[in-house]
Parts: sequence; C-alpha cells; structure tokens
Amino acid sequence: MSLTPGLRKELGFLSISAIGSGLVGWLLGRLPEVLLISVILYLVWHLQQIIRLNLWLKEPKQHKKPYAVGIWSAVLAAIESLRERGRKRKRKLGRMLSGFQESTNALPDATVVIDSSGEMEWWNVPASEMLGLNRKRDKGRKIDQVITDRVFLKYLAEGDYLRPIQIPAPVDSGISLEVRVVPYGKGKRLLQARDITRLHQLETVRRDFVANVSHEMRTPLTVIHGYLETMGDSDDPSLADWQHIFGQMRQQTVRMQRIVGDLLLLSRLETSQGEGGQTVVDVPDLVKSLQQEAINLSGDAKHRITVDIDEELWLFANPDELDSAFSNLVFNAVRYTPAGGGITLQWVLTESGPCFTVKDTGIGIDNEHIPRLTERFYRVDVGRSRQSGGTGLGLAIVKHVLTRHNGALRIESEPGEGSIFTCSFPGSRVREAESGTVSAVTKT
Ligand code: ADP
Repeated sequence: MSLTPGLRKELGFLSISAIGSGLVGWLLGRLPEVLLISVILYLVWHLQQIIRLNLWLKEPKQHKKPYAVGIWSAVLAAIESLRERGRKRKRKLGRMLSGFQESTNALPDATVVIDSSGEMEWWNVPASEMLGLNRKRDKGRKIDQVITDRVFLKYLAEGDYLRPIQIPAPVDSGISLEVRVVPYGKGKRLLQARDITRLHQLETVRRDFVANVSHEMRTPLTVIHGYLETMGDSDDPSLADWQHIFGQMRQQTVRMQRIVGDLLLLSRLETSQGEGGQTVVDVPDLVKSLQQEAINLSGDAKHRITVDIDEELWLFANPDELDSAFSNLVFNAVRYTPAGGGITLQWVLTESGPCFTVKDTGIGIDNEHIPRLTERFYRVDVGRSRQSGGTGLGLAIVKHVLTRHNGALRIESEPGEGSIFTCSFPGSRVREAESGTVSAVTKT
C-alpha cells in the first residue's frame, strides 16, 4: 500500500510522540503510565478533531474547521475538493434551470408543474397571466383550488388525459382555454393551457351561422312544400302538364327539409354540453322498433332483417340522441343493401363494453373512404346517396352522438360483400333492465 503524504506525516508524528513519551517514561522510571497517558492524549486530540469536523460539516459558517495537521490536512483537502465540485455542479444546474425557465417563459402557452399531491410547484409567466397566479400567494396551493371549473375538476379526477378540454379562464370567463394535463415522473403532472378565444369565437360564429340559416330555411321550405302539395293534388286541367315537375320539386323540398333537420340536429349536438337529458334507456325496445321501421322502409325490396338482442342490457344515455344515431345506421344498411339482402341488428355486451352492431350484405365501402365517412357531406357515391334520400350527414351525427356518450364508431367493410358498423359504449354506462318501465325513447 502506498502512503499518502498526509498519512506519512501522521505516522511520523505518531512515531516521534511514541519515542518521546518512551524516553520520558524511561527517564522517570514509569514507562507504562507515560505511554498510556500519551495514547489517551492522542485519542482525545482526534476525538476533538472529529467533533469539530462534524460541527463544521453541519454549519460551515458558524464553526471553525478542524486543524489541518497530519492526516487531517489530507481529509480536509479532500472535503474541500468535493465541496468545490458540488458547488460547480450546482452552478451548472442553476444555469440550466434558468435557461429552461427563460425558454418556457418565452412560450405563449401556460405551463404549470404539479406535484404528486396536486400542489403547484412552478409555473411560467403566461400561466400567471392566464390563470391569475401569484408566485408568493399561490406556490404550494392545490391546482383544484385555482381552477374550480366543474369540467376541469372532473377531468383532473378521472385521470384520462388523452384529450384536451376547453374551459373558461379563471381570471376572465370571456377567455377560452384549451387545457391538457401530461403525467410524468413519479406522480407528477404538467398542465398546459392555450388561449383559444379567437378559435372559439370563429367556431361559435360558424355554428350559429349554420344553425340560423337552417332555422330560417325551415319555414319557407314548409310553405313551398305545402303549395307544391296543394298544386299536385289539384284537378285543374291547366296544371296537368306540370304535375311531373311538381312531383320533382316536392322531392327536392323533402330532401332540403331533411338536410335542414340534420343540420339543426348536428348543431344541437355540438352546442349542448354535459350529460343533460341522459337517463336509463331500454335499448332492446329501441332496437326492436328500429327493426320494424327498417322493414317498413325496405318495403318491396324485402330485406331479411333480423335481431340479436340481450334483453337485460340497458344503457345510461340520451334516448333521442341514441335513436338518431342507431336509426341512421339501420336506414343506411337498408339503403345501401340491394333487394333481398340480409341485415342484422345486434345489441350485446362484449369484452369492450356494450355494443350496437349493424351488419349488412350490401354494396360495401372501399377502404380508402372509411376514414372520411363521418365527415359532413362526405359520400362515396353522391348520386346514389341523393337518389336514396341521403343527406350526407348521417354518419357525422352518429359520430357526434357517440362522442357525447364516450363511445366510439368502428367501420369494417368489404366492397361487394357488405359492411359492419359497430357503436361501442363504456361499460360504466350499462344498466340492468327495469321491470315495468316504459321505453324511454320518444319518437318525434
Ligand atoms: P348518406 O346520407 O349519404 O347516407 P351518411 O353520412 O349516412 O350519408 O353516409 C356517408 C356515406 O357512407 C354514404 O354516402 C355511403 O356512401 C356510405 N355508407 C354509409 N352506410 C353504408 C352502408 N351500410 N353500406 C355502404 N355504404 C355506406
């Protein structure tokens, strides 16, 4: 083992002391006692050095450091070098942290760091402005005491952060925020908020415009349709040559009335928020009535329309919205399946939750169209859709209704073979059949 300079000094000091005290002991004729006393003194010296070291390490500013003698000079030099390295690392981390804070402060979006107990640890300048945070007052406060919006509290509690939410800013309800929570580390969360007031206003203008135009068109269309019917029923010989034209005009007004109706329904679905109007729905009864309506619609085409229903499976949902969504799928199946084809309506509980499935042996859909089918007015074959009375809005309505019920639409199809449309709902919406309850679906 090679001796370090400190250890060498210490051993030198120890040897001199041993020789010195040996000599003194020999001269006094009390060698053991003198040697014992010098060992005790040596130990006391090191003990007081250890006590000084302990105090100095704990509070370096208030206590003096041990004497840098012998081995202690090496120990103290090593401690100083460790401390210097620590100081350098701290300075580097400090520089990195302030660089990070400067860059997040420069971002237009609000960022808040939330610890595992929901308390706010740090936030950037835009967060102070958007959420009205004050560094002195709010550090360590819980985020749910700052943002108390009901939608946000639900979002935070449920922990399903895949989709962002839209809420009014806590400082000004006229400002719309898009808020997203991102979990990271051990139970930590990062909250991001973006000012989407302008986007929100544009969206509102668009929605109101469509709703107003549709609403305004309703009355003139009813009047025109009424007159056309009257003229169509007239026995006046001077109108005889016009009957064919009147018939076509009537057809077009019916089509426009359907479009207006669907547009109004879509804008209602977009504007109404929350779970208003939701109740326990007797879905088996709804599916059976849809089967009957599908048979009526099929008429001479004589489709084979069968059902497979779990009679005990009811659902917590909005009955009218459910009726709109399911009937769109069922009527589509009738309209896009050639005469004599088969259609199955299924309502069962699967592993992924309750599912309503419409399966047909119809014309099918090419794969390339499937991702776009739920867009408004998207049709694979515009002519065919119009001819069969389609508005191009049916699947958009289905998608909206399912989103409002935390559900999803799955479309599988094979051209020339048929299609399967599946509406799946979360298991939490399942309710048991109530005996003696009247169907909750109201037909308009
Ligand atoms: P439309 O009123 O035109 O039927 P939808 O939104 O209901 O509008 O459907 C969009 C398009 O999806 C339809 O135009 C049609 O091309 C296609 N489609 C929907 N359902 C079926 C089906 N069961 N079989 C084949 N194609 C379908």
